Amino acid sequence: MMADTLTIALSKGRIYKETLPFLAEVGIVPVDDPETSRKLILDTNRDDVKLVVIRAADVPTYVQYGAADLGVAGKDVLMEHGGEGVYEPLDLRIARCKLMVAGFEDHVVPQGRLRVATKFVNLTRGFYAKKGEQVEIIKLYGSMELAPIVGLADVIVDLVDTGNTLKANGLKPLEHIADISSRMIVNKASMKMKHGAVNQLIEELRGAVERLS
Ligand code: AMP
Repeated sequence: MMADTLTIALSKGRIYKETLPFLAEVGIVPVDDPETSRKLILDTNRDDVKLVVIRAADVPTYVQYGAADLGVAGKDVLMEHGGEGVYEPLDLRIARCKLMVAGFEDHVVPQGRLRVATKFVNLTRGFYAKKGEQVEIIKLYGSMELAPIVGLADVIVDLVDTGNTLKANGLKPLEHIADISSRMIVNKASMKMKHGAVNQLIEELRGAVERLS
């Protein structure tokens, strides 16, 4: 019987760089470098493993619909996506940071709804809904820190690592929403149909994470 082919979805940059050592540890080495190549599908040294390099926020969607069997995505991206159609069997413990509410320490709580600027619209809505708070969410695509400064929003929901970006803009972390790291995700159908190959790869990667982190 032919070995099942596995496609792994990754995003360029930090996740790709930090996932490579784990893949190498289990004997998977890409033939092309996505930072220099324009190819979106990368061959590896193994005929049965391919990588697709896509936008970080698209990784759960590719895996959900089975366009990739596996993927690496930040917990923030998974929370925003909702996680339908995917399992999340392994924490790679890379790209760690915190998802926080941030703003001016003495920000005035408005009479009406709190205005929250973020690129994480769904998870922010869920966070405040759980607290029973109705908020107005303002979708931004970047530079969230600017929003409270120019009066676009009262607070922001964003990723915080060192806290330097907040500090440089006079903002403070106000509430912790979640600890973030990158996770291995698997298409639910692939987990059944390609059980042997998928499970073996995940267990090998689990060992690699234990050894290398
Ligand atoms: P810092 O100044 O170290 O707190 O970093 C904050 C900035 O880096 C914010 O703009 C975040 O969106 C971004 N950032 C921090 N950690 C991560 C991460 N693990 N993944 C993606 N973006 C991050």
